[in-house]
Amino acid sequence: MTSPMPALFIGHGSPMLAVTENPYRTAWRRIGEALPRPRAILCVSAHWVTDGTRVATTARPRTIHDFGGFPRELYAQQYPAPGAPDLARRVMGHVTSAVVVPDDAWGLDHGAWCVLQSLFPAADVPVCQLSLDAGLSMQGHLVLGRELAALRNEGVLILGSGNVVHNLHRMRAAGDAYDWAVDFDAYVRRAVETGYDDALVDYVLAGDSAALSVPTTEHYLPLLYVVGVRQAGDGASFPLEGFDLGSLSMLSVAYGSAPVSLL
Ligand code: ZN
Repeated sequence: MTSPMPALFIGHGSPMLAVTENPYRTAWRRIGEALPRPRAILCVSAHWVTDGTRVATTARPRTIHDFGGFPRELYAQQYPAPGAPDLARRVMGHVTSAVVVPDDAWGLDHGAWCVLQSLFPAADVPVCQLSLDAGLSMQGHLVLGRELAALRNEGVLILGSGNVVHNLHRMRAAGDAYDWAVDFDAYVRRAVETGYDDALVDYVLAGDSAALSVPTTEHYLPLLYVVGVRQAGDGASFPLEGFDLGSLSMLSVAYGSAPVSLL
């Protein structure tokens, strides 16, 4: 029996990381090289928030430039991977805690393609996105993630793309990460290491550091899906860590029978 596909959460940071040479992009490339080749990818991105849960069924997903005020070079980026309508149908079959609605309009938002460009530069692995239901509870997101765990046995890479710490109002070009950002990042890391999912669902119990690190939940939620697909025997590893612009955690989390290491 082959091992289940690893599951991966990537802290994606600024879209500019996709068009500049930087250590994060280099690390994402190496993470991609360390992964077994998936049959398909299910991506849960911070940048697709909907009323109810939706899954993209598009055969040829468009590259969505869902940002403003960036250089022209960023708008010229394309990620022409095929869609994964078969996987989308399997997602609808696996999820029982919610009605997953097929969506033929969504493509790949920048939370997806900015990291997929580095992880799978050939753009030849079929990919579809699952949206974040704005009305679902934190526990509901985790439960929905758990219902997707079996997809890993079918060679599907579950990819979460967000940021454990994401406060755009406190970004600063110079200086170290804020203490509250470091504290909350460590809180999440401890919870992942110990498999203490309740601490991730009830992250507000971390207090002020949580409030500053997660001013809105959309960048945090993709982590719950990746945690949700953890299987017995999985080890958690952190193939990338650090902070960009003081208030964006670049922490990546990987689950698998073998740790995903950059070394
Ligand atoms: Zn983002």
